[in-house]
Amino acid sequence: MTAETNTLTSEERAAAAETKPAARILQNYIGGSWVSAKAAGLVDVTNPANGEVLARAPLSGRAEVEAAVAAASAAWPEWRARSVGERTEFIYAMREGFRQRVDELAASITRESGKVLSDARAEVTRAIEVLEVACASPMTMQGRILEGVARGINTETIRQSVGVCAAITPFNFPAMVPMWFLPFAIVCGNTFVLKPSEQVPLTSEIICHILEDIGLPRGVVNLVHGAHDAVNAILDSPEIRAVSFVGSVTTAKYIYRRAAENGKRVQALGGAKNYMIVMPDAVLDKTVSNILGSAFGNAGQRCMAGSVLVTVGSAQSKIMGRLKEEAEKLIAGDGTDPKVSLGPVISSAACDRIHEAIETGVREGAELLVDGRRPARVPAGGYFVGPTILNNVKPEMRAAREEIFGPVLSVMHVDTLDEAIDLVNRDPRGNGTSIFTENGAAVREYSRRVEVGMVGVNIGVAASPAYFPFSGWKDSFFGDLHVHGWDAVEFFTRKKTVTSRYFSAGETGKYFVEQGDKK
Ligand code: NAD
Repeated sequence: MTAETNTLTSEERAAAAETKPAARILQNYIGGSWVSAKAAGLVDVTNPANGEVLARAPLSGRAEVEAAVAAASAAWPEWRARSVGERTEFIYAMREGFRQRVDELAASITRESGKVLSDARAEVTRAIEVLEVACASPMTMQGRILEGVARGINTETIRQSVGVCAAITPFNFPAMVPMWFLPFAIVCGNTFVLKPSEQVPLTSEIICHILEDIGLPRGVVNLVHGAHDAVNAILDSPEIRAVSFVGSVTTAKYIYRRAAENGKRVQALGGAKNYMIVMPDAVLDKTVSNILGSAFGNAGQRCMAGSVLVTVGSAQSKIMGRLKEEAEKLIAGDGTDPKVSLGPVISSAACDRIHEAIETGVREGAELLVDGRRPARVPAGGYFVGPTILNNVKPEMRAAREEIFGPVLSVMHVDTLDEAIDLVNRDPRGNGTSIFTENGAAVREYSRRVEVGMVGVNIGVAASPAYFPFSGWKDSFFGDLHVHGWDAVEFFTRKKTVTSRYFSAGETGKYFVEQGDKK
């Protein structure tokens, strides 16, 4: 192995990590205090750019979750009794806290997840956007009233908090995904337990430091590190009323079923296989750069990453040469290096899994148009895969069926838009999709017929802004109410309907008639 290559095997990486000094053991944040978990298990948190062990996260279990839930339950009555304005003030303060710590948050995201620093900063910006939308709660939490449902009788629907809410989040957005839920949950008067991915727990620590700095009352937000045991304890806890989840399809299905069986409201976002369709009239340069950004940004580890490209008709001959040429210019490396376009993938296991998926693609007959298996000049010890393009992929191949979740673009070619729509709709997932064309009729046809929750028109990553719902379909989402936008207020509140009359006002509404007569 040389310092300039990445040829360590998984075993060698593990041995190298073992010789490093013991890393700090993370603590949970419960009831406003940092406390050590009693659970025996620990998991290494590594910097995927060089394999350095940054910290060790405790694998909390039922006892730690119960303590967090007890703190959240105790904090709820006082927190929900506060005015909506007061709660919103805390969200304003959080936003300021995030703005002041943008650099620190972005550096932490890059360190633990590997994404390039510009992507990490963009992620923090998205988290701030959610905070800003949550600040609208004095408007968005309003109910409805109808005067005169019968003579002298009004009916009103008000929104009240649900209780203790929990979120279980994935590795690929350590700041943004927890912030999809936390601000809306607490501004609506709920208290909250966060179980971040055990692979990226450090950024959520900084988020809790921000909450301490702004003086958020103890117990309103609690942080529990861990994996399966902590998740199961959350799903079984009778006091947790709502669970938000983001992760792979298999885990999302499991979470949805078990939480629902236990009577909770659930929103469970799963994995994706996102199709990008290129029509013959697409504007070439901008289409190519959008496709590359979508497929290889964050090393392909976005749930909105375009992982299948479908060319329609003559688009194939126009785009493929340019795509290969431009993909080969992308530089893999440490995300802190500004020259780098894509950082490492999250782990040694992910690296091995992605290599295996590429090799299977080739074995099944796809053409390896761009081979990223051995990227040049990447730092030693990191988990790097360069941009990879598998061409002439067929629907039955693994490269078309599985979410590879790495920088691998599978390319298919069809003759008509109908065939492209058919491919998209045959996929069991339906998170995002993009169409590249200047033809409005094709856009209308495509948007209307695809069974996908988010559609981009000449946009490679059509993730909804925080004031709209983030709305995957089919196996990319289990639940009814989506993430952020109006759906967030619906998810984090219960509706109560009050029908009222006052006998002193007179059952017939005479009081109003008389008052009106005096004017
Ligand atoms: P993951 O499903 O492995 O883990 C997500 C969370 O679930 C983690 O907190 C983990 O500790 C927990 N978990 C994992 N397996 C579990 C099990 N068997 N029982 C209980 N808990 C379990 O996902 P990941 O690898 O962290 O994230 C990548 C996946 O997330 C990809 O599939 C990606 O598409 C998806 N994702 C989806 C969206 C979306 O909006 N739909 C957004 C981001 C990521």
